[in-house]
Order: sequence, then structure tokens, then C-alpha cells
Amino acid sequence: MDYLEQYQKEFEKYDQMDHDFIDDEKIWKQLRAAENPTKEQVRAVLKKAEKTVRLDPEETAILLQNKDPETLEEMFALAHKLKQEVYGDRIVFFAPLYISDECANDCKYCGFRSSNHMMERKTLSMEQIDEEVRTMIKEGQKRTVLVYGESPHTGIDFLCKSVKRVYSVKEGNGEIRRANINAAPLSVDELRQLKEVGIGTFQVFQETYHHETYQRLHPKGTVKGNYRWRLYAMDRCLEAGLGDVGIGALFGLYDWRFEVMGLLYHTMHLEKMFNGIGPHTISFPRITPATGTPFSDHPEYAVSDEDFKKLVAVIRLSVPYTGMICTARESKEVRNAVLPLGVSQIDGGTRIGVGGYGRHDANALPDKEQFSLGDTRSLNDVVRETGEMGNIPSFCTACYRAGRVGEEFMGFAKSKFVHHFCIPNAIFTFKEYLLDYADEKTREEGEKIIAQHVEQFKNEPVYAKIQDYLQRLENGERDLRV
Ligand code: SAM
Ligand code: SF4
Repeated sequence: MDYLEQYQKEFEKYDQMDHDFIDDEKIWKQLRAAENPTKEQVRAVLKKAEKTVRLDPEETAILLQNKDPETLEEMFALAHKLKQEVYGDRIVFFAPLYISDECANDCKYCGFRSSNHMMERKTLSMEQIDEEVRTMIKEGQKRTVLVYGESPHTGIDFLCKSVKRVYSVKEGNGEIRRANINAAPLSVDELRQLKEVGIGTFQVFQETYHHETYQRLHPKGTVKGNYRWRLYAMDRCLEAGLGDVGIGALFGLYDWRFEVMGLLYHTMHLEKMFNGIGPHTISFPRITPATGTPFSDHPEYAVSDEDFKKLVAVIRLSVPYTGMICTARESKEVRNAVLPLGVSQIDGGTRIGVGGYGRHDANALPDKEQFSLGDTRSLNDVVRETGEMGNIPSFCTACYRAGRVGEEFMGFAKSKFVHHFCIPNAIFTFKEYLLDYADEKTREEGEKIIAQHVEQFKNEPVYAKIQDYLQRLENGERDLRV
């Protein structure tokens, strides 16, 4: 049976539906109705957003359509405030690990697409995975997202085997404590197998929510050519018991305002179907140039930096309890500009070539990469500079390891309880990083950053425990958490 045939049966269910939860016309109607909103309209939406509740599409449309500089500043300020309220000063760090660039699909924008003959193809062997993971651990990584093309060579057995392999590697004081996945949509049975091997978040980006554009960019006769198979990928994850799901859109394929509305409708759909569980994270990558991929050089709907800032703020305001990921596709300057607007996770020390962590010339090997990186700083530098901006760099995986995912995690986030254990745990993982991996300059700066953040607990019972744990980490203990 060929690879596509294997999924044909699964597609039937979706092909028979007379509609899905993305109504293109309705979204455009809502966007048009919100054109040139008054200051009063924008402020009325902000007043509701202040209560940290999810906004309705009509309200989000007003924020998306706002061009008034004064109320735009108010939007940015509130987005920052909500981020602080829900997540505190934490920024969670991870790094992607590209396992395979073999792909049977032909997405017009991607360097891995099957018709790109300029790309050298590679799938890591188990021994090569060990090597890559060892290098990542030595740099201080604790969380990763494993990235795969979609190919019969990297089916479910390979996925499970590679996840187990990543978790099995130990190096010095370190190990990968959470492996998320960014791979093709899978069936419920396959997803159950991934749950068994202990993955963190399963991410699938819809790329574009606009039906016609999706069809144009993803040829028929490929698995990815089926819009609904992808659109309902997260439903299948939640059905399979994977509590943390990550959605996203690839900005530049279609109008950015439409895509934000798509992300919102996706969130609402999941909340409705799964007892209030929305996505754990939202990603909002912009297309960056990829070798042998002319489409990616000048995307028709390229998003300006100004609009990018706006879309980050609108997502934060509309879905205040969802994690937001900004990757190293963006430059350092852009990342620093959007961090305060609601981002909760970034990558650092990123290599996107398959086998890239073991090579010094990585990130300069276009024939081995899916796209080009905007931020090539080392993990050490991103950690220090992010900390200097007033954040606590965190490598924390406590929730996932304590089984707090999905509904349970949302419950914690919603009650703002997050502050009472997430911030101390973030501080402990930052301390571990400083002790084991940072250079002298980062360690010195980092200790000052920790001291400032610990101050906020001065009058709380947990203060003594934080001091005690910090001392125990100094004395050589590891992996402490409240
Ligand atoms: N193959 C799987 C899939 O398509 O779902 C997952 C891995 S794919 C390598 C991860 C994501 O990279 C895609 O979902 C897409 O959003 C993004 N991507 C593809 N081409 C890109 C480009 N030129 N610039 C930035 N991101 C890109
Ligand atoms: Fe393959 Fe994913 Fe790239 Fe599409 S985006 S060509 S499915 S790796």
C-alpha cells in the first residue's frame, strides 16, 4: 500500500462533512464589518480583554483592523500586562532537533518539498540522534521539539523509536526532559502510540486557514493536500489523550488578519469540543527564504514587522491563556520587540539542518536546511540577553512531568496559580543552567537576575524554600522543583 493510500480511509470521514469550522466568508464579513474602528470601539474591546478572557471573533476583528497609533499603543501595553499577569516574567527556552528532511509532500514554500532537488536528504540514525542530543545537552538544552518531514521512512514506528532514543541520552548533569513533536498529522491510533512514549506537545501548523489558498499551495495527490485531515489533527490528538496540542499558521501565505481569525476559530472549536481545553501553544512563523524555493523569497502576503508586532499583541489579547512561541526564524531585533507583547517561549542556540548540532558550519548550509534563520546567537547569548531585558529564562518541565497537561494545566493557568510554582521552578532551572553551562559573563549577570526575581517572594512563605533550593543546587543537587 502506498503512503497516501494508507490514509485514504481516514480521509473519508472528513470528505463527507458538508462544512468545517472555518467559514472563509464569515471571517471576511467580520473583518470588513470592523474596518476603521473608532477609538471607543477599540477601547471597549480592551476593557473586556483586561479581564483575561478569550475574545470573540467580532472583537478580535476590531483589534486586527485598528490603525490608530494612540489605541495601538494601548493594545501593546495591555498585551504586555496580560502576559505578565498570566505568565510572569518567565520565558521558556527550547531548541528544535531536525530528525529528517525526507518529505513526500510538495508544499510550495518549504525547502524540504519533494520537488526541490537542491536539498540533500537525510534521516538521522539512532546513533546520530545520540550525538545530536549529547551536543544539545552540553549546551544546556532541556526541552526540544523534534521535527520531521512526512515520509514513509519516518512513519509511526520510527517516530516512537526516535522519541525514546532522545529521552535515553544522559550527559553530565543533563538530559532532555521534554520532547515535543512537530510532524505530520497522524491518526488516533498512531497518536496513542506517541502518548505511550511520553511526548510533550504535538504541534501541527495549519499553514493557512484559507481553503482556496491551502489547496493552491499543497498539491492534490499528497497527504498534505487534504485540508481537513490537517485541520482536525488536534481533535485526534485530544481524542488520543494527548493533552497538550500546538497550533500555528505560516504567515505570508495569505492575509495575516484572516490567519489570526483562523487561529481564534481553531481555539474556539477545540474549547467547544474538549471541555474548555484550548491549544497549549500558538506558533506564528513568518515565511523565510529557503534554498531552491522561489516562492519563499517573495511571498505574496509578506507580513511587515509592524503588522507582525500587531498580530502578536492581538493573539495575546484574544487568547490570554495560550502559550505563544516565537522562533529563531525572526531576527534578534524582531524577537526582542515582540517578547514583551505576549511571547512565552523562544528557542536559542538553534540549528535547523539535519545533523546541525554536530557541525560548526551549521546554519550556513542551505542545501541541508528547511529555511534560513534570523537569529543565530548561541543559547548562552540568548539566555543572557533575554534575562537582561527583565525576564527569567526558564528550562522548566515540572508541569509536564507532574502530569499537569491539557485540562489540568489550563485550570492552573486560569486560576493564576501559575505564579506560585512556575516562577520558583523557572528560577531553579535557570540556576542549574548558570551552574552547569553558562560562560562567566552570563553567570555573573544571571546571578543578579535571580536575586532580583527572588526579591518578589520576600514576604511569602515560599521564600525560605527558594533560598534553600538555590543553596542545594549550589551544593550539587539537580532537578529540584516545587
Ligand atoms: N512536515 C511537517 C508538517 O509540514 O507539518 C512538520 C515539519 S515542517 C518542517 C514545520 C513547519 O515549518 C511547517 O509546518 C511550516 O509552517 C514551516 N515552514 C515551512 N517552510 C517554511 C519557510 N520557508 N519559512 C518558515 N517556515 C517554514
Ligand atoms: Fe514536507 Fe512539512 Fe515541508 Fe511540507 S512543510 S514540504 S510537509 S516538511
